[in-house]
Amino acid sequence: MQPDGRTDFLIIGAGFAGLVVAERLAAAGWKCVVVDRRLHIGGNAYDATDAAGVLVHRYGPHYFRTNSAQVVEYLSRFTGWHAVAYTIKSFVGGRYWSFPINLNTFEEYLGRPSSSEEFAGWLAQARVPIQDPANSEEVIISQVGRELYELFFENYTLKQWRRHPRELDASVCGRIPVRVNRDNRYLTETFQALPERGFTVMFERMLAAARGLELHLGMGFQEACQRWRCGHLVFTGALDEYFDYRYGPLPYRSLRFEAESFAGGQLAGREAMAGKPGFWQPAVQVNYPELEVPYTRIVEIKHATGQELDATTIIREYPKDWQRGEEPYYPVPAPDAHAAYQRYLKLAAAEPNVSFIGRLATYRYYNMDQVIAMALAEARKLVARYGAKSP
Ligand code: FAD
Ligand code: UDP
Repeated sequence: MQPDGRTDFLIIGAGFAGLVVAERLAAAGWKCVVVDRRLHIGGNAYDATDAAGVLVHRYGPHYFRTNSAQVVEYLSRFTGWHAVAYTIKSFVGGRYWSFPINLNTFEEYLGRPSSSEEFAGWLAQARVPIQDPANSEEVIISQVGRELYELFFENYTLKQWRRHPRELDASVCGRIPVRVNRDNRYLTETFQALPERGFTVMFERMLAAARGLELHLGMGFQEACQRWRCGHLVFTGALDEYFDYRYGPLPYRSLRFEAESFAGGQLAGREAMAGKPGFWQPAVQVNYPELEVPYTRIVEIKHATGQELDATTIIREYPKDWQRGEEPYYPVPAPDAHAAYQRYLKLAAAEPNVSFIGRLATYRYYNMDQVIAMALAEARKLVARYGAKSP
């Protein structure tokens, strides 16, 4: 059966990649149809108010951060910002630790006050000298030595990826900073903030700005292809799925999220530990590296959103193997996975009228700002190729 609809661009996926491209192409006058098989926009960055009234990040915490002025300028057309210094803790041996590793962590380890000089000297002794760390174990032991690596990284990574840090790219654990000062912030980027009213409101404003854009939720790629012929396809789903798993599925890691809400009155036993009323834990995120604990982290996003209410919600993240049909949350940054991806990349290169962008289609462990920059660049390329359409 021939599709009866016609659009200039058919865009699969209404996450950051799909919506940014769609907004830019619509601004250039092109007719865009965006479909997503989920029942909401925003992809994994989707946030929503739960039954307790708490604004939660449904697919894991999404800490927006970037060094790109271009990305901030673009998103600021659709949202104001709530500045946040994301600080987290690690829970090991029955106590909370400052994390990422910094001078405060070192003092907690020593059980007495110290100095940056003393800590730098200690690290110089502990560090395993490795010129070019080739994997996630080497990148951490070359900075902090084996003891702190084993305490905070080895088992967390085993749980999260079901792979040893030696079998993962250096960039995986290497993205966690190590500092000899007292900077407790989890991230190092210059701009760290959340959209003032949440990601979903920001996405809604992007859609509202995109004149003539058609959005269909609860619709998959196959059905979309049966409904619309298009001049160009933008695909932001998984590359192996696009090619019907011709070479077998790429490795992914998945997650199960378990939410628990507490009314203000139910927090009496926890508030002292949290350090302030209305909260369950002392930071937006607490990591649990120990193997006996089945989850990797607990997130209480109200710390970061700044929402004021008595109730709160925590979400535990349980890593799990990925099965076909489930959400492939994480591509696996490892040499064997990259090699498998290269075979699909060759197939993708033979599709001139399809753009493959986003975290899944490019099989990259990318943050939101990197995906936004990629989508802006792709939109510029497409406008250069097809021109702008006068209204
Ligand atoms: P997605 O958000 O995955 O969107 C793709 C969309 O395409 C989905 O809605 C999906 O349903 C749809 N789709 C896929 N295939 C099909 C199909 N065949 N048919 C129809 N629809 C389809 N980034 C940060 O910057 N900071 C963070 O703190 C952070 N935390 C994260 C925590 C977790 C647990 C995860 C999983 C990711 C995190 N990220 C974070 C990364 C961030 O989610 C991504 O960079 C960003 O959402 C990628 O956008 P995307 O559009 O490429 O993909
Ligand atoms: N990691 C770790 N211990 C921690 C935090 C992170 O070993 O307490 C490692 C782990 O391998 C993780 C990676 O560092 O997957 C990146 O951590 P991040 O918090 O950035 O992961 P994400 O938010 O992307 O899941």
